[in-house]
Amino acid sequence: MAKEGKTLVKCKSGYRMVPVNVQMSSPFTLQEPAWVPDAQCQKCVQCQGKFDLFNRRHHCRRCGKCFCDKCCSTQVALPRMLFVDPVRHCAGCSTISKKEADFFEKNVKTLTAGGMFTVTQSGNTDANNTVFTCKLSTDHRLLQIENESQRLDEVLMTNIEFVQILVDDSDSEGNQVASGLAMKYRDSCGEQQLVKLVVPDGQARKQGQSWVASMQKAFKMIHDARTTGR
Ligand SMILES: [Zn+2]
Ligand SMILES: [Zn+2]
Repeated sequence: MAKEGKTLVKCKSGYRMVPVNVQMSSPFTLQEPAWVPDAQCQKCVQCQGKFDLFNRRHHCRRCGKCFCDKCCSTQVALPRMLFVDPVRHCAGCSTISKKEADFFEKNVKTLTAGGMFTVTQSGNTDANNTVFTCKLSTDHRLLQIENESQRLDEVLMTNIEFVQILVDDSDSEGNQVASGLAMKYRDSCGEQQLVKLVVPDGQARKQGQSWVASMQKAFKMIHDARTTGR
């Protein structure tokens, strides 16, 4: 990620690395929750221990609810809220954030590394049945589809409206195997487009299959963040 486009900001929970221009935010970014005001919580949400001078309130940085120190002492990385260092989590939220760390470690790496696909795009017959590399940009905002001779319009991740894994195969044990991905998105003119990425045979097949599975997870994560704010 381009360092110059970001700035270090100190807030009550620690340092955050925030894009100078909000438009440049990663689509995986989550808003920090509003903290439940101290006056509204007399007991720890988890163990029901009453707060007093010795049993102090602590807020989980992910859900914003009040916990005692014991129930909220786990420090976990929370890159989706742009924290530089690990921050306090309650038990439930730390499970979610740890799972997400796995997503960034494995799936996002797969997406930015890219996969090879035979591409069919609505309204672009030039691209039909040609092999392209599809990859997620390093700032996670754009899907780039290109080969040596052409580059299709970049797809904004937040403009993807629908993702479906295509299955037309099963392996030797009878498990269904992904053969590709269909995606609906709005292009830069606001028109709805359909693009189909088919995993090629041969060496690139495995990488293509992990890429489509990762893409489906990424879409779900962005979609959930937009509908629930979580
Ligand atoms: Zn507690
Ligand atoms: Zn929490």
